[in-house]
Amino acid sequence: MVAAGASRAVTVLGSTGSVGCSTIDLIEREPERFEVVAVTANTNAGLLADQARRVGAGFAAIADPAQYRTLSDALGGTGIECAAGAGALVEAAERQAEWVMAGIVGAAGLAPTLAAVRRGAIVALANKECLVCAGSLFIREVAASGATLLPVDSEHNAIYQVFASAAPETVEKIILTASGGPFRTASMNRIAGATPEQAVAHPNWDMGAKISVDSATMMNKGLELIEAHHLFGLPGERIEIVVHPQSIVHSMVAYIDGSVLAQLGTPDMRIPISYALAWPQRMSTPSERLDLCTIARLDFEAPDPVRFPALRLAREALGAGGAAPTVLNAANEEAVGQFLAGRIGFLEIARIVEAVLEEMAGLGISTLDDVREADRAARMHARAARTAPAGG
Ligand code: NDP
Repeated sequence: MVAAGASRAVTVLGSTGSVGCSTIDLIEREPERFEVVAVTANTNAGLLADQARRVGAGFAAIADPAQYRTLSDALGGTGIECAAGAGALVEAAERQAEWVMAGIVGAAGLAPTLAAVRRGAIVALANKECLVCAGSLFIREVAASGATLLPVDSEHNAIYQVFASAAPETVEKIILTASGGPFRTASMNRIAGATPEQAVAHPNWDMGAKISVDSATMMNKGLELIEAHHLFGLPGERIEIVVHPQSIVHSMVAYIDGSVLAQLGTPDMRIPISYALAWPQRMSTPSERLDLCTIARLDFEAPDPVRFPALRLAREALGAGGAAPTVLNAANEEAVGQFLAGRIGFLEIARIVEAVLEEMAGLGISTLDDVREADRAARMHARAARTAPAGG
């Protein structure tokens, strides 16, 4: 663990994304505090090379081999090593950084995140999909290696900050807050005709496209329910979801004595990222400070099961166990990709996920190979389940 005053060796997986850029921003604000071992991207070689130069990274890895030349040209003469392909991402995660940000989006992040877990790193977990799809197998790997998992998702980070981990029996339930996304009060007609641009326009958070669509369907909260179950060891029945449109109370823990502890802050991912980056210390951030008198009110309401069927699907998948969460996640990733490409309508996302869950019901999982196979099959079924044209 990093001592006060010493620098921490860090790797940022998915450095070119929304979480990745916020992480790099914090690192650049206190350069003496961090030594960057590796950074990674999928296709954005230009930004990756720029980040690697700025933070003086030792290694830059890009998933898309077609981008290798662009990356190596851009890093020419810097002495920064670079490589391409899925193996290069795993290599980035395996390099000896004490701390690793898992900031890749989707199940594609599973292999590199596991590589960091397996060597016992401190893993700041933004990539909720890899925990949803591999669930208890992932948690078993964490326990076996002695890795430290620090939740970065703002809700789970909030819970982590107020959860009595030394006395979990005193926790009655977890209350996950949800903004409700851009369609919280929209008519079903408007939701049915939602375009990708409207769906990614989140009212409070500035995030990548996939998680923004997940927030609009509320599948994001469903994935977070499963994530919370694995991170904090509570059954789904003791994880409540409450819509809180201002996104100020990031989540709460209710105790057996009736106390409820919450973590609050302005909606800026640099707050939970900084918590993980400096852990177990804290560091300052430029985030806007919370002014409760200006905000004046905080609202809470129950989620609407008709507008947001994805929440029910996630609860059912968690209850069903086996491969169901893996299938839910993969079918959702595929359907969101189709929606963003304009091939299906917004409401088709949950319909496709439900159809694939039904088709693959009862499938078990006992190894990581089973996870990969269920993920592959669910994506295939989701492509086949595509039923309606865009806007339908
Ligand atoms: P973005 O889409 O903004 O960024 C994703 C990152 O992953 C980019 O660096 C991207 O590279 C890389 N990437 C994408 N696909 C692949 C792939 N197939 N193989 C390797 N790398 C890949 O996502 P976000 O930053 O929004 O989200 C990242 C994760 O954090 C997600 O799991 C999300 O649920 C979670 N999260 C995000 C929050 C946010 O505020 N954004 C909040 C809470 C959780 P490239 O740039 O080249 O495409």
